[in-house]
Amino acid sequence: MPDAGFATPTITFTLAQYERLVGHCLEGFPEEACGLIAGKIDADMEPTGFVGAVYPTRNADHSSRTYTVDSRDLLWAMRDAEDHGIELVGVFHSHTHTDAFPSATDIRQAFEPHWVYVLVSLKAAEPVLRAYRVRDGLVAEIPVVIDDSVAAS
Ligand SMILES: [Zn+2]
Repeated sequence: MPDAGFATPTITFTLAQYERLVGHCLEGFPEEACGLIAGKIDADMEPTGFVGAVYPTRNADHSSRTYTVDSRDLLWAMRDAEDHGIELVGVFHSHTHTDAFPSATDIRQAFEPHWVYVLVSLKAAEPVLRAYRVRDGLVAEIPVVIDDSVAAS
């Protein structure tokens, strides 16, 4: 069924969240680093774009080519999000030598149609962060903004 919300929302990080996320990717180098993003969802389970927390997690694969969020870290993040009245709304991981675009493997393993998939490329000197929705093998980029004025909402 077509979904008009596929290419939405605009995902909004505070500067601290953005730095936590990108910093975790840099620390994980040369392995791929990963983590989870929690925020608010609407009645259709779609993320509103508000981010309440960024959870750096361990990459259970310990690989420079693949990632699997450590299951204990996943459980911890789910519980912490629940404690704060927010939901897991996405996952992020780094690409150490390729662009910030989902790989064929990433697209195949994007099992959560309601999630936001954030990629951080460490290919160049400056990290590049981009965000996507992935659904039925289709990829749509969504806008990312860094805005500290939303932090208190
Ligand atoms: Zn990837």
